[in-house]
Amino acid sequence: MNREVRVRFAPSPTGPLHIGGVRTALYNYLFARRHGGKMILRIEDTDSQRFVPGAEEYIIESLNWCGVEIDEGVGVGGPHAPYRQSERKEIYLKYAKQLIDAGWAYYAFDTPEELDALRSQAEQEGRTFAYNYEVREKLPTSLVLSKEEVEARIVRGDQWVVRFKMPENEVVKMDDLIRGHVEVNTSTLDDKVLYKSADSLPTYHLANIVDDHLMEISHVIRGEEWLPSLPLHYLLYRAFGWSDTQPEFAHLPLLLKPTGGGKLSKRDGDKMGFPVFPLFWTSPTGDTARGYREDGYLPEAFINMLALLGWNPGTEQEIFSMQQLIDAFSLERVSKAGARFQPDKAKWFNAQYMHNLTDEQLAPIMQPILKEHGVEVSDELAGRAAGIMKERVTLTTELWDLTSFFFVAPEEYDEKLVKKQWKGDNVSMLKALRSLLLTIDDFSKENTETVVRAWIETNGYSLGQVMNTLRLALVGAGKGPGMFDVTEFLGREECIKRIDNLFENVAPQL
Ligand code: GLU
Repeated sequence: MNREVRVRFAPSPTGPLHIGGVRTALYNYLFARRHGGKMILRIEDTDSQRFVPGAEEYIIESLNWCGVEIDEGVGVGGPHAPYRQSERKEIYLKYAKQLIDAGWAYYAFDTPEELDALRSQAEQEGRTFAYNYEVREKLPTSLVLSKEEVEARIVRGDQWVVRFKMPENEVVKMDDLIRGHVEVNTSTLDDKVLYKSADSLPTYHLANIVDDHLMEISHVIRGEEWLPSLPLHYLLYRAFGWSDTQPEFAHLPLLLKPTGGGKLSKRDGDKMGFPVFPLFWTSPTGDTARGYREDGYLPEAFINMLALLGWNPGTEQEIFSMQQLIDAFSLERVSKAGARFQPDKAKWFNAQYMHNLTDEQLAPIMQPILKEHGVEVSDELAGRAAGIMKERVTLTTELWDLTSFFFVAPEEYDEKLVKKQWKGDNVSMLKALRSLLLTIDDFSKENTETVVRAWIETNGYSLGQVMNTLRLALVGAGKGPGMFDVTEFLGREECIKRIDNLFENVAPQL
C-alpha cells in the first residue's frame, strides 16, 4: 500500500452504539494498526432531527472500554480539527456551490405541497415517484428558473435545498474491497439533497465526501447499509474532481439475528435475553438498554467475539488478543455474507477469558464488586478468592454469589443441609475437628489436608461426613470449592470462629 492508511469511524450520535457499529469501529482500528496508519473518529451530527444528547459520550466511552484507540478526532484533536461536523458548518456551503457552478447540482425551491402533488399524480398513474431527471424540470429549480429569479428567491428568504443532478442512464462502475466490482445504472437513482437552507447544514452525503477528502481518508470501511449510496459517492468524487484521491471502499456484512433472518435488533436481544449494545444506556426520556459491560463481559472477550463475526483468520484459532487480531486482520478475509450473532458463543468467549485470568488480573475486577457489597479487603485476597472460583464463572456478575462466603461468614444456614448434617456424632465430630484445627499452625491447603485426612483415618470417620459438616460451618450451604481451599483462604482463626457460630446459632434451635 503506497498511500498512508487513514481510516475513520464516523458514527451519527442518534442513540447508543449498536454492536454492529462497534464492529465497524473495530475493523477500522485493526486495519489502521495493521498498516501503521491512523484511526480517526468523526462525529456526523448534521441531522439535528435525529441528534440524541449523550450519544456522543456513549460512543466515546464504548470505544474506550473496548480498547479501540483513536489517533485523531473528537476528544483527541488533530491536524484536521474540528472533527464534529456541526462545528464544521461553514465549510460545506462552499462545496455545494462549487457543484452548482460546475453543473452537478442545483437549487430546488419546491414546497412539500408541490412535491405531494407530483407524488399523487405518479401514484394515480401507477408509477413510483422519484425525484430525478424526469421530474426535476417540472419543479421550481435553478435548472428552469432564471438566474435573477433564483437570486431573488434566495435573497427574500425562500427555503431551498441543493440537490445532486444525477445523470440519466449512465453506468457507474465501482470497486469494493469486499464485494468486488459493482455496477449501477444512474437512472435507478434519485437527486439526493446535499444541503438545506432551513438549518444551513449539509446532509450526510455532502458532509461525508467533503470530510473524507479533506481528512485525507484512504479507506472507507463501513456497514453494508451504505452500499446503495456508493454510486452517488463515486459521482460526487468525480464532480469535485477528486476521483484520483478518492478512498477505497469496503462494505461490511450485516450482523444477523441468531435465527439468521434479518438484521440483529434490540428487540431480538430483549426477546432472547442478551444485550445488543456495549454499555448500559439510558436515553434522555428514561428508556434503558442493557450493555455487555454491565452484564459482566470482559472487553477483551467481547472484542474477540465481535472480530470473528464477519471475519475469519483462515485457521481454527478462536482466541485472539487485540495484538493478535491486528497481526492477523485483512479485509480479504471479511465475508460478503451476513454474520449470524450467537449469544451462547459470546458467553463461551467470556468464560474462556475468565478462566485464563491470573489472580492479579482478577483483583481489579473483584474490588468494585466487593465494595458494592461493603467488603474491604486487600487486592491479594480479592484476586485469590476469584482465582479459586474462576473455572465456574462465565460472567463477572456471577462472582459475588460464587465468592461471598470467603468474605462474609454465614448468617443463615441452608435448612436441608442442617437437617442432613447436624445430627448424631457429627456434632461431636465437629467439636473434635475444632480442637484438631487449633493444633495446626501451618494452615496451607496441603498441610491441613494431610493432617485432617490422617485424623479422619485414625478416628474412623468418613471423608464426606467430615467435609460436609465443615462446609455447613464455613460456607453455610452445600456450595463452594474444595474445603481445603476454603480453610486456607479463611485461616485458622476465622475457621474456628465460624465453627463456633454454627454451635451457637444452630445448636440451640435443635
Ligand atoms: N454517519 C454514518 C453512520 O452513522 C457514517 C457512514 C459512513 O461511514 O460513511 O453510519
